[in-house]
Amino acid sequence: METQTDILVIYTGGTIGMIRDPESGALTPFNFEGIYEQIPVLKNFPYHLDFHCFDPLIDSSNITPGHWVELAEVIRTNYENYDGFVVLHGSDTMSYTASALSFMLENLNKPVIFTGSQLPLGVLRTDGRENFIAAIEMAAAKEDDTPVVPEVAIYFENKLMRANRAMKYNAENFNAFVSPNYPNLAEAGVYIKYNRSSILKPNFKKLKVHKNLDTNVVVLKLFPGISETVVSSVLHTPGIRAVVLETFGAGNALTDNWFVDLLRDAIERGIIIVNVTQCAAGRVEQGKYETSVRLKNIGIISGYDSTTEAMITKLMFLLGRYGRREEIIAYLNTSLRGEISLK
Ligand code: ASP
Repeated sequence: METQTDILVIYTGGTIGMIRDPESGALTPFNFEGIYEQIPVLKNFPYHLDFHCFDPLIDSSNITPGHWVELAEVIRTNYENYDGFVVLHGSDTMSYTASALSFMLENLNKPVIFTGSQLPLGVLRTDGRENFIAAIEMAAAKEDDTPVVPEVAIYFENKLMRANRAMKYNAENFNAFVSPNYPNLAEAGVYIKYNRSSILKPNFKKLKVHKNLDTNVVVLKLFPGISETVVSSVLHTPGIRAVVLETFGAGNALTDNWFVDLLRDAIERGIIIVNVTQCAAGRVEQGKYETSVRLKNIGIISGYDSTTEAMITKLMFLLGRYGRREEIIAYLNTSLRGEISLK
């Protein structure tokens, strides 16, 4: 006997769930109870869909780690009852939320597929309809009774990407996300083609949800002309525990003594500094150029080929979970959920 595939759709907010109010003409949040009238083809799906809506709905620019905890909690409470999860989320900060969830959900053995759209579902030319339908299909896909994508991923405009490898790079194209340093997990054309060798394998262990996130993290983006006052004030932010240093090219930075001294002093005060490149693609190689040798020598940690989004959320997760600096550094040098390639 065929068993039913159950998918929980979690709507957090964002453009995808908007329709135009016929009277006022304004975009208003859509009631998912009416989804079958909006997308009649869903009735032909061999899957059972349930909906959970955040209240209030959130434009993703207002998302906070508190919402990530709420989302993780919804997944935890429903984990045993569903085969997969589709999270509808505004695209603006989707890669932050999806990266955070990838760290918070340890031993995830079911798909958690994020999607959204650039045009609301209720607009004729919407990209939301295709994104939504394909995301459901990917969340439901199984082979030998095992989910094909047992990880947190983002689906947008034909591409399924690992969540902690993806970034929003286009504010208006339907093709809004890229995964510059890791192959796409699937591509949807006439068929959905899964790139199986790049998808994480299930470990069949019990899901563990980590809800303690420490937000004492800051991003310091370098630019030519950055002043000592700015660098000093960032590194003296009260309570700060970790800095994502966004450097040039393959992890390079200015070699001025004042700059290196400020960084060294911060490290001596116990602050963890991770070097991530400002380039969308490629990796940090500390020591390749003279302009990164000093960073390496004072104890700055390489962020490898991490996105800034993945590094910020990984640090929030690690700082919330571990107290010892050596332990945090060891995990920064480890790929926990496929977020970095060590070589
Ligand atoms: N501002 C919206 C949001 O991120 C845009 C979108 O939904 O894509 O919530």
